[in-house]
Amino acid sequence: MEILVSLFNELRSCFFPRWDIKREWKIEVRDRTEAPGGGYCDRENKTISVSPPWSEADDDDLCCLLIHEMSHAVTNDYHGKKWEVCFLTAADKALGIGQIELADKIRSEVKTYRESPRTIAHYVYCTIHDAVSDQPDASMDAVIAWVASYYAFTPQELLKRYRKAEKIFYEAKYEAKEEVAQMKVARAKFDELVSQTGRG
Ligand SMILES: [Zn+2]
Repeated sequence: MEILVSLFNELRSCFFPRWDIKREWKIEVRDRTEAPGGGYCDRENKTISVSPPWSEADDDDLCCLLIHEMSHAVTNDYHGKKWEVCFLTAADKALGIGQIELADKIRSEVKTYRESPRTIAHYVYCTIHDAVSDQPDASMDAVIAWVASYYAFTPQELLKRYRKAEKIFYEAKYEAKEEVAQMKVARAKFDELVSQTGRG
């Protein structure tokens, strides 16, 4: 467990230095039935769970699993565009520090996710999520209408078939708002820095 905690801390500092600044997230070992994919990211309780067995001999497997879950922590619960970009950015970082095998593992996992047969529901939910991140000010009607037309449904059909659509819209909206707020803070810091250097 100690090894797991220190690995978690190490990966967080190395791959996600701007995430979890307050050190609120924790790592847990859980039963396979509770984390069926080997890992689980509970964003509400700020907990990442992993379940043995992972291959002790191959550290990269566990690193890849933790980075996969951390990418969910940073983005959202889906394997959509945002998560993918975040996960692949970690692969680039791994490559930059000479961890070639880890980078390969991450990239091939992304490939597997892209190629794996997913349910239409998964695509629909990912598309709603991505649409809101691209257009954070769009109304629910506008987003649902667009996603529905993309999958050749009427908005009513979509909402009836995919019961979580509304929930996912609001989750994405909340995340987008937080992101805008963070960007504003970063922008203000940047402006301050520029005005200071300007004066000097
Ligand atoms: Zn995942």
